[in-house]
This record gives sequence, structure tokens and C-alpha cells, in this order.
Amino acid sequence: MKFGGTSVADAQCIRRVVDILEQHHKAGNEVAVVVSAQRGVTDQLIEIAGKLPTAKDDSAIAPLIRALSTRHMTTLEGAAPDQVAEVGADIEERLISLQNILFAVYNLRELTPRSKDYIISFGERLLAPIVAAALRERGIPSTVMDGCEAGILTTPQHGESTSLPESDERIQRRVGPLLKKEIPVIMGFMGCTRDGILTTLGRSGSDYSASIIGAGIDADEIWIWTDVDGIMTCDPRVINDARVMPSLSYLEVMELSYFGAKVMHPRSIEPAMRKNILVRVKNTFNPTHPGTTIVRNGQRDNRVVKALTYIDKVAAININGAQMIGRPGVAKAIFTILADHEVNVMMISQGSSEANISLIVDESHLSAAVTALSDLMKQGVVREVSHNHDVCAVAVVGAGMAGAPGTGGRIFTALGAAEINVMMISQGSSEANISFVVHQDDGPRAVRVLHDEFHLSEASDE
Ligand code: ADP
Ligand code: ASP
Ligand code: MG
Repeated sequence: MKFGGTSVADAQCIRRVVDILEQHHKAGNEVAVVVSAQRGVTDQLIEIAGKLPTAKDDSAIAPLIRALSTRHMTTLEGAAPDQVAEVGADIEERLISLQNILFAVYNLRELTPRSKDYIISFGERLLAPIVAAALRERGIPSTVMDGCEAGILTTPQHGESTSLPESDERIQRRVGPLLKKEIPVIMGFMGCTRDGILTTLGRSGSDYSASIIGAGIDADEIWIWTDVDGIMTCDPRVINDARVMPSLSYLEVMELSYFGAKVMHPRSIEPAMRKNILVRVKNTFNPTHPGTTIVRNGQRDNRVVKALTYIDKVAAININGAQMIGRPGVAKAIFTILADHEVNVMMISQGSSEANISLIVDESHLSAAVTALSDLMKQGVVREVSHNHDVCAVAVVGAGMAGAPGTGGRIFTALGAAEINVMMISQGSSEANISFVVHQDDGPRAVRVLHDEFHLSEASDE
């Protein structure tokens, strides 16, 4: 069971988490817990880490340490009042380590990817001991492990590492034996390389941690506890009548999270899928709601389109050059150089004249992509590269679209009727997703139009 940032935001929330865990423990289940940082803490850590190398002085460090101390000590006092002395000392010790590394970054005027990962893992480091203490306070034995101790071994890409196959056996060996005796609390969001260097798994990474741990211990189910009733037809902050979907397939959730549904980390389905483990998304604040069940073949219903996502933090890159026509290997050169610069390409479209290739990348990868492609311009492989920030990508997802003719027609007819200009279209080979790009200003409206067109706010047997 994984509990997200809002689910552990204060002492009252943690008591609710412990209620849930106690209930499942008493029912005879073996449970491992993954926790993320308290809501907002990771953002605070990322912000200060980014500022320190160029800060005029180190005056931002003390107030942050004080704020984190107050917040976590208040949470501890409310969630595990009998262990304030002992667990409080542990938290203060962790805060001293954090403070030391922050001063080091300021003094060196340098933030390496490795030190950044270490800093941003502190949200989880500070919170996990409190949850374990709160469980002990209810008479449930519990100890804390960081992601590395729990056995998560990763690639060395700081900030975006991926679990390695060896993790399974290590997790089984390290976490497995504890389950009969206690509820171990594992810090989400982090693992380590084969050399023992700490890595983080990307934003929202504790969802991924939970799935890696679940696969490692061969769990029967992986439960993601969050602050909404389940995965919805669209981000509820964009569409106010978005509806919770009772059942989805692994593929559908992968498409949704990959195309920006912030409800889950994009990789979090992979480990579960590999072991065919059922994943449930549930609401910590409404635990009797059944939530969303995710399995290999989601419930078949008569809906072809199930959900929509919308990402505005993307950029479009257009690559032009007549040299591309009929010349094999140009696409290879483009994608190889982008991969070498660690640019993740979200969408591709190539016109039939072959003279133009358009790509969609995450905004944060744009400058690396432009640098990479200007190298190709110098080599004469492509002639012209331009980019555009004012775009957003919308993905229409549903496994039922595969082989169902007419869905594309319905999507683009509805958008046309609403006078929304579509700049680029792409359909994945899985056919579970059709995505397109529109001007940034049209994004929310495009989503609204399609949510209505496919009656997504109505119950599923429309
Ligand atoms: P946690 O801290 O539990 O990991 P997150 O904030 O990362 O929670 O993810 C849950 C939030 O994701 C919800 O509160 C909701 O606002 C947002 N969200 C975006 N898209 C969706 C969607 N399709 N379904 C449900 N929630 C979504
Ligand atoms: N605390 C991390 C983040 O904010 C991981 C997570 O919440 O899942 O990204
Ligand atoms: Mg999350």
C-alpha cells in the first residue's frame, strides 16, 4: 500500500492511514507500506537546491530547516505522542544531514545531479519514521527502510532512474521476511545504483516504488492510496464533472500516465504488469469507495473512449529539410542524437512528403533537443529546426478504440465543429490512444468538447 503526499500531510491524516493499515492487518493480510513526502515538501527541497548555487548568501537554509522541523515534529507529536523523544531525535539528526548538504551546495556553488537527488529524497526520509512510530503506537510492530535498503536497484540516471531486474530478488530477500512480523514502512521515490549511490525515480516516483516493491514481494495486490476516489475520465481540475472509472487495463493507465495524467507515475504500471498484479487506486479520505481496479484486460464495456489527458508543459519541434526525402537513415540520425541527449520524445509525426518531421517533447527537454538538432544542421542532415512553446497535447485513451473504425473521425469532427485547429495528430501502435496537439489556449476547451462528445460524465453503459 502506498500513501501519497496529501494522505500523510499532517497528524490527523497519518492517524487515518494507520486506521486503514490496522484494519487490513487485523483481517490477516501481510502489508508493506510505501510513503511519499508530506505534501509540498519535495517542491520546497527542489526549490532551495536549485537556488543555492547562485544565491547571494545562505540565509534561505535556516528558515527551511526550521519549517521542516516544526512541521514534522508537530506531525510526530500528534501521530505518535509516546515516541516524541526517540523518533524526534532521529528526525533532528536527519535534518542536520540535510542542512550540512545544503551548506555544502552553497559553499561549492555547485549542485550535481547526485547531490540534488540526495537532497530531494529528504521529504520521504523525514516522514517515514513518523508513520512507523504511529503504527507501533497502535501495537503493530514496524520499522523503516529507505528504498535502497528495501532492495530497489536502479539505473544511474539521477532524477529519472529506472528499476533494474535484480531488484525483485533483493526485495524478496529484504522485505519478504519482515511481512510475517511487522508492517515495514519503506521510503518511496528512491533507490540506489549498484555502487550504492542514491537515485530518485522521477516526480511522483513513490507510485513506481510501490509497484516495484509489490512485484518484488509477489504481492496479491498493489494499492495506491491518494486524495481522489480513483482514476477519473479527466483531471478533475480541468473537467469538474469528471467521473471515476471503476476498471481500466494496464495499457490504458500506461497511456494516460505517459500522456500526463498526474494521478500516477508513468512507469508505475510496468512492474505490476510484469507480475500480473492487480493495482487499485483508492481514496484515503473515502476508503469505502471501491476506487479503480487496474488489471491486464480491463472490464469490457461499450465505450471506445474512456479518458482524456491534457499536458500543457510541452513544446513542438519542427524539422525541415529536403535532404530527408527518400534518404534512409535521417530519422535514425534524429532519434539517435535526441536519445544521446536524453530527450524523451512524446509524439512524432512525419508528413508523406518526408520533408518534415514534427516532434513533441517535454518543455524541460526542449533546450537539450534544440542543441542536439543544431548539431545535425551543422552536419547538413537537416536544414531547418524551429520550435513552439504555445502548444499543448491532448490524448484520447481507450483500449476499445483498437479496431473500432470511426473514432478518429468523431474526435476531429467534434473539434472542427468547435473551431479548434489541430496542429498535429499521432496514433500509437497500441491503438489505445489517439493524441493531438492544439494551441495552448484551445487545450481546456478541446478536452471539454471531447468529454461531452463521448459522454464521459455519464455512467459507463451509455
Ligand atoms: P498523491 O500525493 O496521492 O500521489 P497526486 O497529487 O500525485 O497524489 O495525484 C492525485 C491527483 O491527481 C488528484 O488529486 C487529481 O487532482 C490529479 N489528477 C490528474 N488527472 C487525474 C485523473 N485522470 N484522475 C484522477 N486524478 C487526476
Ligand atoms: N515526493 C515525491 C514527489 O513529490 C514522490 C511522490 O510524491 O510520489 O515527486
Ligand atoms: Mg503522486
